[in-house]
Amino acid sequence: MDSSVENRKIWTVRVSNSPNAPTGRPEIWFHSLIHAREPESMEQNVYFMYWLFENYNIDPVATYILKNRELYFTLVLNPDGYVYNETTNPSGGGLWRKNRKNNGGSYGIDLNRNYGIYQYWNSSNNGSSTVASSDTYRGPSPFSEPETRAVMKFVNSRNFSAILGAHTYGNLLIKPWAWQDPIPTPDDAKFNEYLADMTIYNHFTIGTPSQTVGYKVRGGADDWYYNDSVHSPHRIIAMTPEIGTTGFWPTQAEIIPLAQSMLFTNQYFAMIGGAYVYPVSTTLNKTVYSPGESGTLKIKFRNKGLQTAQNVKIECTSGSYYLNVPITFYNYSSLSSFAGDSSTFGFTISPALPNNSAVPVLIKFKQNDSDVVYTETKYILTGNGSVTLADSAENGFGKWTTNLGWAVTSSQSHTPSNSFTDSPSGNYTDNSTNSMTLNLPVNVSSSPITLLSFWHRYSTEAGYDFCNVEVSSNNGTAWQTVSSYNGTLTTWTQQNIDITSYANSSSQLKIRFTLKTDPSVTSDGWYIDDIKLNNYTSYLNSVNTTVNLKTINEGFYNTSLNSLNMKDTVTMYLRNSSSPYAIIDSTETTVDSLTFTGSFVFRNAASGNYYYVLKHRNSIETWSKAGGEAYAFGGIMSYDFTPRQHRHTEII
Ligand SMILES: [Zn+2]
Repeated sequence: MDSSVENRKIWTVRVSNSPNAPTGRPEIWFHSLIHAREPESMEQNVYFMYWLFENYNIDPVATYILKNRELYFTLVLNPDGYVYNETTNPSGGGLWRKNRKNNGGSYGIDLNRNYGIYQYWNSSNNGSSTVASSDTYRGPSPFSEPETRAVMKFVNSRNFSAILGAHTYGNLLIKPWAWQDPIPTPDDAKFNEYLADMTIYNHFTIGTPSQTVGYKVRGGADDWYYNDSVHSPHRIIAMTPEIGTTGFWPTQAEIIPLAQSMLFTNQYFAMIGGAYVYPVSTTLNKTVYSPGESGTLKIKFRNKGLQTAQNVKIECTSGSYYLNVPITFYNYSSLSSFAGDSSTFGFTISPALPNNSAVPVLIKFKQNDSDVVYTETKYILTGNGSVTLADSAENGFGKWTTNLGWAVTSSQSHTPSNSFTDSPSGNYTDNSTNSMTLNLPVNVSSSPITLLSFWHRYSTEAGYDFCNVEVSSNNGTAWQTVSSYNGTLTTWTQQNIDITSYANSSSQLKIRFTLKTDPSVTSDGWYIDDIKLNNYTSYLNSVNTTVNLKTINEGFYNTSLNSLNMKDTVTMYLRNSSSPYAIIDSTETTVDSLTFTGSFVFRNAASGNYYYVLKHRNSIETWSKAGGEAYAFGGIMSYDFTPRQHRHTEII
């Protein structure tokens, strides 16, 4: 790009698996430090670049992005201002925001108020200053500055589909318009979907500038990117994250966690520049099943990308021997931008799966036949698992701690007579973070599949006051929000949340319910009842049941040598002990020619009473003694076929 006021180069780096020349792939631009005092905006872009590089050919999304996108990163869009901060505050903390244009008596233009077009720059919303000394001085005319002119030239010379210009701070994600905020753009529905998806993990506040930072903006970057580059009427999707909450110069310890809070947002944004098939919902037809039962998993998806997705494959495969998924994928030859569809997969749980356990299904979305763009593991649960927490609010508040006002109330309940609430004596208060936290940590390390369920109802100011469910895997040191509610729900409703990935097999799992309110408008708040944690053990393909047998393969026995003539493979069946003696499971092993023993490993049959049946090549079957044998799933059994009374062959 062209240079700054003080003639510093504005460096931009192209990132793809073929970076030496343009590729014709979808182009996405990430820029930072347009405001010189916002270094975390740069740190998180550097972090994203490292993540891409370090995960190429390791993580499917990193690989997909580098093979199918052309990313551009401009880490320091305002180098003069950044150098000025370094000069005045070599150890950090400089608060210069603008560029370093000499205005004659003062310095600097706010580059993020200097974009055109004139109509935007000069909007009647007064979202910039005309006073040269002001921190939001817009400059003498749109694109008066070498930095913004460099941006204009760069954007017009390329074919960006999306641009993310990062700022700090506030934990916000902002959509256009700015100049006529809050009037929505023609793409408002699309923007809203992007805002919601991109903040699903970091829970940034979303909206227009006035709905997020709380003031109007004119002459900002996103309006011009969106509507007035030479590519208009092709609209560039442009948004602004404001990262962090603790100020312009986060502590060293905060730098990486803040960068991590943006990782998914950046990944998603890189993906939407082209085709991006993304889940809308994955829904099982029941919360828990019984061993032997069948069910369905419905996967709704949508192409959130700006280009048509080709040869989409929605895959759902069993991650366990105990789960049969007969049809494992569906193909869609093309899915245009923002078109959606759904795939429903049937499955049957093995009757051998012990109750109170979990079997995984592996969900994959592929584009271009084989490029993985999304993966998810979903657990199918049997029984109630082990109940590691159950609180119906009938035995007081003893399991919980509150920092503010949570308590037991009898004014509402799902199961009589009590529930928990944040504000038992009326409306909640403004500007508060009011939590109810589990006192003692729960150990889920031995059964890590964790289902959190509760019943609730709530009344909050929609969009501003939030009911957050949070999980900590380290005894309350760090928390992650697993779900969030706001607005009004007046009927008691059950929530079932798979928190396995958040719980992370922790021995110190805690949960917390937090009502977080803004400075105005209050309401009745949140009622919660019948809180439960149900834990399950995951059954992959690794649970074996072993039967050790001593046997003779007649015909292979050499009397003179007292051994079998050769090692040979023998098949063993488990048959029902009552007519018609159905085969329940089968396996093969090699019988040792000297000891006449073999270990037979079964994975399907549930505990029960079975005949052990041996079959060698074309010989007749040899059955264990009448009545069958006690067989325990997961156990180790022994049986000796050598005594004559331990076998019979005439049963069927
Ligand atoms: Zn800024």
